Amino acid sequence: MDYSWTPEQDELYAGILRFARENLNATTLERDRTRRFGEEEWKKCAGFGLAGLCIPRESGGLGLDCLSTARALEALGRGCSDGGLGFSLSAHLFACAVPVHLHGSPDQKERYLARLASGEWIGANAITESEAGSDAFALKARARKEGDGYVISGEKSFVTNAPVARLFLVYASTAPENGFLGISAFLVERDTPGLKAGRPMETTGLTTSPISSLYLDDCRVPASALLGREGAGGSIFKDSMGWERSCLFAFWLGALERQLEETVDHAKSRRQFGHPIGSNQAVSHRIADMKLRLEAARLLLYRACWERAAGHPSELAASLAKLAVSEAFVASSLDAVQIFGGSGVMQEIGIERYLRDALPGTIYSGTSEMQRELIARALGLPPRRP
Ligand SMILES: Cc1cc2nc3c(=O)[nH]c(=O)nc-3n(C[C@H](O)[C@H](O)[C@H](O)COP(=O)(O)OP(=O)(O)OC[C@H]3O[C@@H](n4cnc5c(N)ncnc54)[C@H](O)[C@@H]3O)c2cc1C
Repeated sequence: MDYSWTPEQDELYAGILRFARENLNATTLERDRTRRFGEEEWKKCAGFGLAGLCIPRESGGLGLDCLSTARALEALGRGCSDGGLGFSLSAHLFACAVPVHLHGSPDQKERYLARLASGEWIGANAITESEAGSDAFALKARARKEGDGYVISGEKSFVTNAPVARLFLVYASTAPENGFLGISAFLVERDTPGLKAGRPMETTGLTTSPISSLYLDDCRVPASALLGREGAGGSIFKDSMGWERSCLFAFWLGALERQLEETVDHAKSRRQFGHPIGSNQAVSHRIADMKLRLEAARLLLYRACWERAAGHPSELAASLAKLAVSEAFVASSLDAVQIFGGSGVMQEIGIERYLRDALPGTIYSGTSEMQRELIARALGLPPRRP
């Protein structure tokens, strides 16, 4: 087994880390407080190629494989203190641009991919509904065939990037009687009549990542808006979740590394009772546990990405990675707050932001409970009877 990175991967990591530290952190605190999306920072990331990491070069991306993409996002997460920006960028890439790249027709790729990869257009995906969360394929949105196109109606909740996106990957049923196999995916442009984003929601954490409901009211799209074939929406969505669960969480690995560095520094420099607080075992063992969680989660994530890059992605590896990183982030953020004491809960210090950014991670891309369900099924445990 070889754990080394290539010189190109090392160079990519160092370059992104430097870029992020120098360009992305100046206004994080102010934008976190005012819940403002970093348009300028988005443009800088896009200019650096981060909006199209794994999109082929001929379509304007960097053409990285899954493992290198994860390494790049890890560098971004380590260098960039704006978790919302990293989340918006990753949702755009894995839940919109990647499906267009993998399932788009030549015309769809021509129209959308370069715009998405360059970050000129921001992408979003909309599957969740008020009655279809973990049970996403129970969605009620409908797309009926009419003339030479489709008419889509439905309401979507929690659509990351909806307030700023130009392109929406919308899932709706074209054949409700077929359940999962009746779901289709559509590429819907923002200015399509009948499509409307709701007012931005106020989340715990990820405050700079705009999110809202999406309303589709007799929204008419041409037949060319269908992504893949009719009925392929369920598998397109599952595939995009595989990418998200493997790769998106690399950003949080980087954040965990930054958090650990800050916590170690603090435990060495902060003195109480005449000694560094880190000389107390109660503190140093918490830090040892933070390191253990980070390294264990990192190996699971690299494994999932390696499998995908090698052409045999597994749902099991992706679920293990997602579960490990997201839960490590919550647990280690609680440890960091405790070790920083009073300053740990002061917004201007930035430690409590880790905890706020960590909380949604055990919910989006499939909750922790659903990942455990998937892991249990992969081990052959029987599903619950209806
Ligand atoms: C920050 C954020 C960003 C998001 N971005 C998007 C987006 O861009 N696009 C999009 O479409 N959606 C998005 N979502 C929605 C997200 O995918 C859903 O919130 C998630 O799938 C959970 O659905 P729910 O919130 O309805 O919870 P529910 O499904 O109602 O779950 C509530 C609780 O019940 C548990 N539960 C449910 N079913 C089972 C079961 N069978 N076994 C055990 N436990 C179970 C869950 O694990 C959870 O603890 C986002 C969510 C968040 C928080």
